[in-house]
Amino acid sequence: MATQLLMAKSPEEAIGAKNASAVFIAGGTEVNRLGSDAAAAADTLISLKKCAGLNEIEDAGDMVRIGAMCTFQQIIESAKVPEYLKEAAHFMASRTKRNMATIGGNIAALRDDSYLLPVLFAVHAELEILKAGGTESMPAYSYMESAESAGDMLIAAVSIPKDIKVVSKRYANTAQSHAVLTMSAAMTGEGISLYGAVKNVGLLYFCDLEKAFRENPDISEDEIVEMVRVCTGLETADDMFGSDAYKRYLIGVTAFGLHSKLAGKEV
Ligand SMILES: Cc1cc2nc3c(=O)[nH]c(=O)nc-3n(C[C@H](O)[C@H](O)[C@H](O)COP(=O)(O)OP(=O)(O)OC[C@H]3O[C@@H](n4cnc5c(N)ncnc54)[C@H](O)[C@@H]3O)c2cc1C
Repeated sequence: MATQLLMAKSPEEAIGAKNASAVFIAGGTEVNRLGSDAAAAADTLISLKKCAGLNEIEDAGDMVRIGAMCTFQQIIESAKVPEYLKEAAHFMASRTKRNMATIGGNIAALRDDSYLLPVLFAVHAELEILKAGGTESMPAYSYMESAESAGDMLIAAVSIPKDIKVVSKRYANTAQSHAVLTMSAAMTGEGISLYGAVKNVGLLYFCDLEKAFRENPDISEDEIVEMVRVCTGLETADDMFGSDAYKRYLIGVTAFGLHSKLAGKEV
């Protein structure tokens, strides 16, 4: 259990102090959660609250740059942030939590019921990352892929496109419950981009479905549902969130529905 708290004054000080027995704390809603692994394993908490320059939202041409310490509520209230990200931020139903939880903390938590990652992946959001060796830019999806192997990383900011068509869908028993599926689709220059978070399965890139929609925009719902039903690369299981068959069906019909919406078709 953590016994020390370091109030870092700059992102550089924070990454400089990071080691295997220290964890960053942003809004603290995940780190301070009862039974959180992060807090239990740490000796030191490195607070990012007083780090200069991490909580601004800036217009950057055709992109919006959002500092990692911006809260969900700040995102919702900013006139600069596109509606699609505000919609995803609203998936966190508690305003009290939205006033604390940050976009950087949500990304780094890499949860399989993540509020924001499906949409950030779908729009190919770029992260500014600070490592011991310096700053680099990487797509949000690459951050997830390298989170375990790339050593300590501090997310400084997230850049997202302004003018992009995006649709999202989240399924949970109540607004406060964990979602069984959160999925987002965006229309990029290359065609549809499709990502999701499936509870107890993971954060997923639906590359086969993306390919199927791009190759045949008139593909039927039955064909998509069947593709997911027989997909061997998808490792779902029966659990309290639903059966394997239910989750596969939900992924199929949701992907089809989001694609239809993006294409402006009635569903
Ligand atoms: C009851 C409850 C239900 C929840 N349900 C959900 C849910 O359904 N979906 C969901 O996505 N989340 C959920 N959460 C978790 C949490 O509220 C959110 O993920 C939140 O966005 C985390 O942001 P934070 O600023 O509070 O992060 P923190 O708790 O401060 O940090 C979370 C993690 O990110 C790391 N971190 C924080 N900032 C950075 C940074 N800038 N760079 C690198 N690493 C960083 C921390 O070290 C820690 O490992 C829930 C939490 C609670 C208490």
